[in-house]
Amino acid sequence: MSDLNKAAASSVLDGASNSAAGGSNASSLFPTYARYPIALVKGEGSYLWDDKGNKYLDFMCGLAVTNLGHSPKKVKEALVKQLDELWHVSNLFHIPNQEAAAKLLTDNSSADAVFFCNSGAEANEAAIKLARRYHQKVLGNGRSEIITFEQSFHGRTLATLTATGQEKVKEGFGPLPEGFRYVPLHDKAALEAAISDNTAAIMIEMVQAEGGVIPVDPAFVHYINKLCKERGLLLIVDEIQTGMGRTGKLFSFEHYGIEPDIFTLAKGLGSGFPVGAMLAKAELIPAFTAGSHGSTFGGTPIATAVVKATVETIVGDRLSERAAEVGEYLHKQLQEKLAGNSVVTTIRGKGLMIGIVCTKPVADIIAEGQKRGLLVVSAGPNVVRLLPSLLVTHAEIDQAVNILASIIV
Ligand SMILES: *Cc1c(COP(=O)(O)O)cnc(C)c1O
Repeated sequence: MSDLNKAAASSVLDGASNSAAGGSNASSLFPTYARYPIALVKGEGSYLWDDKGNKYLDFMCGLAVTNLGHSPKKVKEALVKQLDELWHVSNLFHIPNQEAAAKLLTDNSSADAVFFCNSGAEANEAAIKLARRYHQKVLGNGRSEIITFEQSFHGRTLATLTATGQEKVKEGFGPLPEGFRYVPLHDKAALEAAISDNTAAIMIEMVQAEGGVIPVDPAFVHYINKLCKERGLLLIVDEIQTGMGRTGKLFSFEHYGIEPDIFTLAKGLGSGFPVGAMLAKAELIPAFTAGSHGSTFGGTPIATAVVKATVETIVGDRLSERAAEVGEYLHKQLQEKLAGNSVVTTIRGKGLMIGIVCTKPVADIIAEGQKRGLLVVSAGPNVVRLLPSLLVTHAEIDQAVNILASIIV
C-alpha cells in the first residue's frame, strides 16, 4: 500500500502504522496515527482549508466532534468571554459554569448527576468505576464484571481498551485489567450465558460506530434493558460518538425509549474543545463520595462554558430534530445515487451517522474523496462513514453525494 492508501485506511481505530505525514519529513511525534498527507489550518462551518489553500467539504467533523461545524459563533463567543475572565480553578472550589452545564445536561436527559472529565476514555473509565463501586460500596454485593459487545469501541486507557470488543487495540498491552466479558451483538443466548452473580453492568453503544456503523436492533436493546432490571445489573450506554444530536436525538438511547443507569459523552460535547462527561441516575450518586474519584482538569470554567454554549445551541436551535431531517435527506440521496452500484451493499445508520457498506476496502475511496475536496472516514476496512455537521445544508449534502457517486465504482 502507498503511504496515501495506508493513511486513507485509518480511522480512530486503525491509526497505527509507521508512515509519517507525506512520507518525507521526519517527525518528532510517535507514529500512533497514519496521517493523511494534508495539513488543515482553517475551518468555518462545513468547510476546511489546508496549508496550500485547498478547500474541503468536511463530512467527518474530526470524527463526530465538531457537530456544530467549525468555529460556531455562540460557542466561540462563550469561549472568548471565559478566556477573558478565568481559565482554571481547582475542583476544590465551586465552579458556576460546571454547575450550570451539569444542570443543562440533567434537565435535558434522564440522568441526575454529572461528572466532568477530559475525554471519552476517561468518561467510560468513570462509568466502569462508578458501576463497580455502586455494587461494592452501596449495595455491598461485591460485583465487578462488565459485559461488553464484540466490535465495540470504548477507548484507549487500560480499562477501556479492555472493555473494547476488538483484539487489535489490546495487542502488546497485557496484563489487562480483569473483569470484562464479551458477547456477540444481538446474541441473546450468549448474553444470558455471560451473566453471573459477579456481573455489575452491561455496556453498549446504541450504534456501534468504530465497529462499522451498526445500529443495535430495538428488540435487542429492550431485551438488555429488561435483563438489567430483572438481574440487578446497571445499563451503561456509551454515547461518546452517538450523543449530542448526532443520531437525530440529543442522546441515541432516546430512540429506544429507555433510560440507562449511566451514560457517557465526549466528542460532540465541546464542539472541538476537549471535554468528557459521565452521567448517572440518582441512585448511583452515593457511590462517588468526596475523594473517591477526580480529575484536575475535569469541568474547568473554560471547558464548561463551552459545554453550556454547545448544549444550549443544540437544544435551543432544535438541532437534534434537524439532524434527523437532513439525515433522512442524506440517506435518501445516497440510496438514489448509489442504487444499483455493484460496490455498495448496504447504507445504514441513524440521523447524521451513516455508513456506506462496500464489497471492498474503502481506502481508495477516501483518498479519492480528499483529492476531490471531500473528507470522509472509514469505520472498519469496508465502510465509508459520513459524519457531517448537524448544520449541514441540502446543497452541501448534494455536493458530497455527487462526489461519492462519482468515485464509488
Ligand atoms: C471516540 C470514542 C471513545 C473514546 O473517546 P476518546 O475521547 O478518544 O478517549 C469511546 N467510545 C466511543 C463510542 C467512541 O467513539
